[in-house]
Amino acid sequence: MKINILISISLLLCSCQAKLPVNVPELSDGDPTTCFVGTDGVNKIVFDQQYTVPFQSYKIYSSGETPAHDPSAWTLKGSYDGKNWVVVDERKDQAFCSRYQEILCPITKPSNYKQYMLEAATETGDTLVIGDVSFYDTNLNAGWEAFKYPGVDFEILDPETKGASVYAGLVQNPDEYIRFHARKVAEILFYTAKDTMNDVQKIEYTLKDYDGVSAKGGNPPVISIVYSTQHIEKSANESLYKLDFETRGVLYHELVHAYQFEPKGIGSYSTNKTFWACIEGLADAVRAQAGYFDMSTRKPGGNWMDGYRTTGFFIQWLTTKDPDAIRKFHETVRDLDEWSFDKAMKRMFGEDASIEGLWNEYQAFLSK
Ligand SMILES: [Zn+2]
Repeated sequence: MKINILISISLLLCSCQAKLPVNVPELSDGDPTTCFVGTDGVNKIVFDQQYTVPFQSYKIYSSGETPAHDPSAWTLKGSYDGKNWVVVDERKDQAFCSRYQEILCPITKPSNYKQYMLEAATETGDTLVIGDVSFYDTNLNAGWEAFKYPGVDFEILDPETKGASVYAGLVQNPDEYIRFHARKVAEILFYTAKDTMNDVQKIEYTLKDYDGVSAKGGNPPVISIVYSTQHIEKSANESLYKLDFETRGVLYHELVHAYQFEPKGIGSYSTNKTFWACIEGLADAVRAQAGYFDMSTRKPGGNWMDGYRTTGFFIQWLTTKDPDAIRKFHETVRDLDEWSFDKAMKRMFGEDASIEGLWNEYQAFLSK
């Protein structure tokens, strides 16, 4: 009798372990629209790629489902042998500020674990859904702990519009969502949070019913951004993910205007085309670098003075020559007394470089 019980318990344990999801492809494809749909209660998911490097941080992404299905508490465990598990990180009361949103978690005691196990549950024990989980062998928080997040005043001028209600379905915590992107923009424009940057203290973010996309006004310390509910409605026609992609992309662009330096010695945005092309080109370069443009829309033609994405895609392409090209381009804006595209290229790539030469090389790349 005793033996029978033991056997049945061990069978039970075996069948439980065999059922654990291992290496769920939907969690590691970098696409939060494909997701892991678990069960009620605590879910255990194993990541077993026989890792060879210690991970220093990881990210968990919310899915496109309603927030009730998001993980709100989880434990990450590591193992050298798949039998003994050590708690690596523990989180409680987590809330994702939007759909398809990451939460970055540094790992304080990295070790050479071969496997990881995530134990996660929703707030109410509802069915768990996760968009993605990714691991990094660097601490993605390093150098940015001291970032000074701006305050956000979020206002919906036209709450009765369809765009406003669609936005509420996408973004659950607008203040947090905007602050998150402010830091992401700074990470692309600067090396660390300690670099000299504009003191952006407050962002007034407004949803408004008008025929347009988005615009930025004011100057640091207080800037304002308006986002069109009509544009939200149009962008949401295809899918919620398409709206998210567009909303983040537009936000990246406008937030660059809050943090970017302005070229010196060449007049102003409204009086000098080079000034304008530099400002709008860099804003779209950062958006492209963040991954919020469909890069298949890049086409040969145009000129570096055309601004927006024509200039932006070119500046972003310079990162194929130097991974820090966007930061270095931005430094030329800060440093040159009389800014020009050609002087910027010479400062970045040496006296033999020229804007015409690099542009022609970029055109040749696009024509391939
Ligand atoms: Zn702009």
